[in-house]
Amino acid sequence: MYEMRAESTVGRGELVWHVIRKDVAASALCGRHLKHPSPAALLAQIEAAAERYCPTCMTAFGSAVRGHGR
Ligand SMILES: [Zn+2]
Repeated sequence: MYEMRAESTVGRGELVWHVIRKDVAASALCGRHLKHPSPAALLAQIEAAAERYCPTCMTAFGSAVRGHGR
């Protein structure tokens, strides 16, 4: 089970989306440990000017999905 989780980059108004595996602690596929979203982080998500996806997570997620597919 995979889930997207946004991490706000403080001070830059930018969100970075990581992919986490829910059955393994809250660590992203890129190896980054993500904190549980705090109220401040959720507010930052609403106010963020830009969003992007973590390329390392996207690559790992893509190969994981292909690996399970057949
Ligand atoms: Zn990531």
